Amino acid sequence: MKKRIIILGSTGSIGRQILEILDCFPENYEVVGLTGHRNIGLLVEQVKKFKPEFAVITEETLYNDFKESLKELKHLKCYGGHQGILQMIEEADTINLVVNGLIGAAGLLPTTKTIEKGINIALANKESIVIAGNIVTELARLNNVEIIPVDSEHSAIWQCLIGEDKSKIKKLILTASGGPFLNREKDELSNVSIKEALNHPNWYMGRKITIDSATMMNKGFEVIEAFWLFNVPPERIKVVIHPQSIVHSMVEFIDGTIKAQLSLPDMKIPLQYALNYPERREYLWNGFDFLGRYDLSFYPPDFEKFECLNLAYEALRMGGTAPAAINAANEEAVELFLNGNVNFTQIPEIIGEILYTHNWKENPNLDDLLMVDRECRTRVKTGYYK
Ligand code: MN
Repeated sequence: MKKRIIILGSTGSIGRQILEILDCFPENYEVVGLTGHRNIGLLVEQVKKFKPEFAVITEETLYNDFKESLKELKHLKCYGGHQGILQMIEEADTINLVVNGLIGAAGLLPTTKTIEKGINIALANKESIVIAGNIVTELARLNNVEIIPVDSEHSAIWQCLIGEDKSKIKKLILTASGGPFLNREKDELSNVSIKEALNHPNWYMGRKITIDSATMMNKGFEVIEAFWLFNVPPERIKVVIHPQSIVHSMVEFIDGTIKAQLSLPDMKIPLQYALNYPERREYLWNGFDFLGRYDLSFYPPDFEKFECLNLAYEALRMGGTAPAAINAANEEAVELFLNGNVNFTQIPEIIGEILYTHNWKENPNLDDLLMVDRECRTRVKTGYYK
């Protein structure tokens, strides 16, 4: 039987790569829903090619044009706005997997909606778990839903833990490429350009996550994500710099054994794993060759240079609304940086200020978290726009 799949964010980097995989195995998968935000041209093209039952454009001002472009597809249900994603998840029948490749906090409600419907989720939107880890993981437990990580580090840890007793974990070791500024001095960072920050050495990704990699906030979020997915306390989640991005993460067990997962840095590998989990299917692109000229090196991260990493550990220790606050501040600060309104080193400054001054609450519900998200965004937007 074909796996029936919904892809949220199909025009983004994750979405495009997943459709590339699905295109190679049409006998195995059926695309039931596709969504995009502003890239109407690509979304229309994808809908014409994959013929899903549902298509959503979340930028509402584009809805009429979008519908018009697809009017010959008589059976297509076409929705607009972020609400349209929730409506599609609600109405779609017998879905086997939702792939959440949305960017930022916009991914949260689609995640909770998917889980509430009892559908397994391949989660590339780490912000869902950063903001509301407690709520998302508890909902998944109640609804017997698997959250299959797409993030390469968490996919690696997940694979290392198959067949293992989780109480025997000593440490999770997340690898980090270090991004484009690994070898820059701290005091050079205030002058880096947008173009330099967007130039990631190893991974092909969207703009937001590429900046998060340059500040290492991405790794900080991944520490938070690992805490919720694998239930290991922050002091036993370590980050190690590994510039080649071949070892995707490791688990150290109490007996001194370390398991690692290795592959080329290609998101299609963890994506295909999440698509087929618990099975494995053939990978059709180039693989890793140990007889090549690879050196694998590892060293500790510079917490002073990459303050965002510290801020993420701090938010995780504070708990409650703190991770939601740093996520909101980060999204807006990155946007300001990409628009040329703040410099690179102001990103951690803004996040730190919001973290320590936001309206912290210990046991937030979803509404509290969405409120903190809005408040923190407004403060960053109004405080730093020049
Ligand atoms: Mn990652």
